[in-house]
Amino acid sequence: EVITPVMPTYARADLAFEKGEGPYLYAQDGRRFLDFGSGIAVNTLGHAHPHLVEALTEQAKKVWHTSNLYRIPGQEKLAARLVENTFADTVFFCNSGAEANEAGIKMLRRYQYVSGHAEKNRILVATNAFHGRTLGTLTAGYSDKYREGFGPMPDGFDRVAFGNLNELRDAITPETAGILVEPIQGEGGICKAPEGYLEGLRKAADEFGLLVMFDEVQTGVGRTGKLYAYEWSEMKPDLISSAKGLGGGFPVGALLATERAAQALPAGMHGTTFGGNPLAMAAANAVLDVILKPGFMDNVLAMSQLIRDGLAAIARKHPGFIAEVRGMGLLLGMKTVPTNVDVVAKLRELGLLTVPAGDNVVRLLPPLNITKTHVDEALAAIDAAAAALAQ
Ligand code: PLP
Repeated sequence: EVITPVMPTYARADLAFEKGEGPYLYAQDGRRFLDFGSGIAVNTLGHAHPHLVEALTEQAKKVWHTSNLYRIPGQEKLAARLVENTFADTVFFCNSGAEANEAGIKMLRRYQYVSGHAEKNRILVATNAFHGRTLGTLTAGYSDKYREGFGPMPDGFDRVAFGNLNELRDAITPETAGILVEPIQGEGGICKAPEGYLEGLRKAADEFGLLVMFDEVQTGVGRTGKLYAYEWSEMKPDLISSAKGLGGGFPVGALLATERAAQALPAGMHGTTFGGNPLAMAAANAVLDVILKPGFMDNVLAMSQLIRDGLAAIARKHPGFIAEVRGMGLLLGMKTVPTNVDVVAKLRELGLLTVPAGDNVVRLLPPLNITKTHVDEALAAIDAAAAALAQ
């Protein structure tokens, strides 16, 4: 056997797309697919959105890359908008979710160091968590499988049961620097923090001098019907990581922080060559142009409700197919009775793209600007899959 030129680190479906338009993708063989996966919560506005295409091509004609040795006006604009619309006072730009999390992990630790608490260098993380594939984020994540054979792993993470505030408070020691959790666990199976959990984290953190960081790589950028998911709670975090949907398909990551936390990383203490380059900033600013328009989030919530109502009807019609529906906005998880990979494969055959997650969940992550027509089409495919696979 000969290895493929593309390193075979993924189990890919035998399908390649040559173009996209709105929520549709067209395969090389001419088949059309309705994309309710959005490249794993990335294509916030679907494919080839005219405003994004224009912003990116206009920027491409001017300058692609200058490095962070110089000011980048697109960064200044995007950062100001993120600051204006969130808890944050300042933003660091990078290229991916894992990188945003790494920056956050460094900031959590170094915040304590510059505050005279070098002994506080451990971070509380949750069961069922996913934070990326770098060594640090793999260690913060839950899955042993993803770490197998990659040791030695970095030290400094202590794990508590997601959603359990008593266990979290008991796990805080004089060495704890901060808390890192996803407000809704994505890869873990669209598991929402219980009511009051985020506020409880804030309270515990304030009591013990810790920082709270949310991994909003999957939940951010309008996915739940708010710009960031923490806005559904009554608290404010110290840091959030963002990526995926932020560039609408162009790689971009960001760490949003309070001024207090960000003082831990003065000039020279963290960096990246590509982070926040002019192309990435053009794409991300164009995404914000659309999703910050008044009323945009209303569509996310309205489509979410339509999908939920439709899934409830399918569950009644085909017992033995949908076990549970969970999530918020257009970050929805359908726990299925048949295996989720069989359901994803059947839906794909029926022309609907979805994404599996942990706990036998099929994720529905459509572009945020879908309309009722697209929802009806997706529900018809799910109904057909249920008729074929219900047990
Ligand atoms: N954090 C969360 C919550 C994620 O869902 C992901 C990706 O799935 C990551 C981090 C890692 O992001 P990236 O793949 O861009 O490094």
